[in-house]
Amino acid sequence: MLLTALLLAGLIALLCILTACALHSQFGALPEEAEIRRFQTLPNYSNGQFHNLESVHMNVKKLARKPGFFRFLLDSSNAPESELPAVRLTRNSFASKPGEFNVTWLGHSMLIVELAGRRFLTDPVFGNAAPVPFVVRRYCDSPLPREELPPLDFILISHDHYDHLEYATIRFFRNSDVPFVVPLGVGAILRGWGIAPERIRELNWNDSIMLNEIRITALTNRHFSGRRLGNRNRTLWASFLFEGGGKKIYFGADGGYGKHFREIGTRYGPFDLTCLEIDAWNERWPHNHLFPDEVIQAQMDLRGKRLLPIHWGVFDLAMHPWDESIGKVRSLAEQKRLLLLTPKMGERIQPESARTTPWWTSPSPRDAELTKKEN
Ligand SMILES: [Zn+2]
Ligand SMILES: [Zn+2]
Repeated sequence: MLLTALLLAGLIALLCILTACALHSQFGALPEEAEIRRFQTLPNYSNGQFHNLESVHMNVKKLARKPGFFRFLLDSSNAPESELPAVRLTRNSFASKPGEFNVTWLGHSMLIVELAGRRFLTDPVFGNAAPVPFVVRRYCDSPLPREELPPLDFILISHDHYDHLEYATIRFFRNSDVPFVVPLGVGAILRGWGIAPERIRELNWNDSIMLNEIRITALTNRHFSGRRLGNRNRTLWASFLFEGGGKKIYFGADGGYGKHFREIGTRYGPFDLTCLEIDAWNERWPHNHLFPDEVIQAQMDLRGKRLLPIHWGVFDLAMHPWDESIGKVRSLAEQKRLLLLTPKMGERIQPESARTTPWWTSPSPRDAELTKKEN
């Protein structure tokens, strides 16, 4: 009896140690002392944290309301009822020579961008968006498996949140020579996961680099960072401008509405394509993400020529039915006569000539079957 109890206790202790190790890996390393000393000389860093230009408030009273955190453990009632239409891809779907100006949306903020004959990947996440399995689950698979990614000229990570920076994906690339472009502080996480320091380019807002003939500029955003409690804003978040072959792409990543959009539009616009987040808005965190009317305002502030909505279609992060935000953005864009691009996941488009459809409004196969029977 005593032996069984001891064995059980040992097993539980071992499980706890293994879980703690796994969690520690997922959280990632924090910036080193020498880096922090350098950050302290920057205008957007003080008291151990990066700061927004405009403050960000959480509505604590509303935060306490249900449904709370535990909904992330459950199957989402906001998820689509049937499989979404998508173009399934493999490595062979991609030409050996990348295009001059093409984009393939892979769901959420993951894009394969071809610009000036180069190809890069943004915010690659193929699994769930949490440090442990089965939490913040996807409601559809990526149309392109990680193992089937085509050759890349670089990978961009916009910030350290789990729906943008995935441990398994970074580990997958540790033995390759693909460079990473990240905001300040995120390099520490990548180095801790085995990426050689010389492969990582870390940028502050308004820093610009040339990488494989693409000019990359990190720009202001209004958001936050952190992969575990107590580590808020120790690394930077950013939006990005990509320039190549005479085209300009603005990648908005995650961030709420603010005066920075007009400033960026005035200084760097107009943009041939803007990719803006649409689906994480909530009155409980009004400044961290864009509400549908703010998406439209941001697009006008930026002087964007075509809008590609991102940050939707994969995770239920803000308690909306999965197609609510895209429906609202579409009708607001129509009112303002803005050009909206809504490719299916996996559909490669040329933004200037693409004619996309509101594919999410088509009846699900089950509904279509029911309609057929009724008739
Ligand atoms: Zn985020
Ligand atoms: Zn996000």
